[in-house]
Amino acid sequence: MTVSGLKSPESTVQCEYLIPESAVPPSRLLMGPGPSETHSSVLAALARPTVGHLDPYFLQLMNEVQEMMRQVFQTKNRLTLAVSGTGSAGMETCLVNLISPGDRVVVGVNGVFGGRMKEVARRAGADVLAMERPFGEVFSLEEIEAAIKQHSPKVVALVHAETSTGARQPLAGVAKLVHDAGALLVVDCVTSLGGCEIPIDAWDVDAAYSGSQKCLSCPPGLAPVTFGPRAMEVLQTRTSAVQSWYLDMGLVSNYWAESSRAYHHTAPINMNYALHEALRIVLLEGLEVRFKRHELNHRALRAGLEAIGIEFAVREEHRLPMLNAVKIPAGIDDAGIRGRLLREFGIEIGAGLGPMKGLTWRIGLMGETARPKNVLLFLAALEQCLASQGYRFSPGASVAAANHVYF
Ligand SMILES: *Cc1c(COP(=O)(O)O)cnc(C)c1O
Repeated sequence: MTVSGLKSPESTVQCEYLIPESAVPPSRLLMGPGPSETHSSVLAALARPTVGHLDPYFLQLMNEVQEMMRQVFQTKNRLTLAVSGTGSAGMETCLVNLISPGDRVVVGVNGVFGGRMKEVARRAGADVLAMERPFGEVFSLEEIEAAIKQHSPKVVALVHAETSTGARQPLAGVAKLVHDAGALLVVDCVTSLGGCEIPIDAWDVDAAYSGSQKCLSCPPGLAPVTFGPRAMEVLQTRTSAVQSWYLDMGLVSNYWAESSRAYHHTAPINMNYALHEALRIVLLEGLEVRFKRHELNHRALRAGLEAIGIEFAVREEHRLPMLNAVKIPAGIDDAGIRGRLLREFGIEIGAGLGPMKGLTWRIGLMGETARPKNVLLFLAALEQCLASQGYRFSPGASVAAANHVYF
């Protein structure tokens, strides 16, 4: 036995429990669809002392988290808070609070997360019309307008940045269409928040949700959500109880509101420290600068990949900077390359999802990951992996092309 009472490998004392070694995760470079790289000060924040969920210190910290989330969402919405849970909990929060059984909902399904929204809305009792588009494509204003005409929905739900495909849904003009029809616009900005423009107020979005582990570069575990005035009106006038007790904004917001602070559930205290630090880092950098950094690194990655003959899976005008879906070249073993990247270089990238499985790689440049050092290392490592499978290209061409963008 060691002094701390933990069993050491050379212990001679009989121990009646099976106790593994203390867990020490490997150090990885996270270049997949999330989680992304975290800043060391965010990880340090997680290790600070846990206080009570009604401790005056924590209440003050919640206020600051809320105010910083408003700035990152570019909104004045009072009901802006961090839901305890991952991005999917943010999705459920927005949908179950706005939908009552029998409500009509239009959901855009052009990837895995649109499909998830459809399922969440269905389980909340909605009558769902799913607009569908092949993976990698987006919806036109005409298609959205036609779906609204056909279904007369109360809610229109769209994914802004479809992480499963790498496509960005244009939102210009969408809110007006939706509002002219008397409906609410709900937007999934899990992957876009903190990585590209998604100004909630300027674009007149009624409810939006995100996740901590994508372009905010915090570990997974919290979901920033925001509800605008039209959505508030629906929350305040609904007659049926929200289907989820845990995610009921009427109850949760009593805890986040400075005037009440009623216990609802124990907030994940240390995760809120981490989000506080991550949001501080986002704002210290500045949204504009941060979005430009994502663009620059995306352009460098793209130049590098194209220089060795690797093509993007999404049309240029709809590509996301933080999630690069590229076609796996013919004859190349998908799992072989990803496995070797992880084993030899500690680099994680994402596989294709759904119909893109085995056909694409998803290379994430989210938040802290979007740095030249990561892009250059990844390209150099990918060249080695591709060469080992007999792929033909000019060695060094990808790194040179990326550097050309940086110079
Ligand atoms: C990651 C993601 C989600 C789900 O978030 P989890 O944290 O995995 O629950 C939802 N929507 C989009 C667009 C995402 O990228």
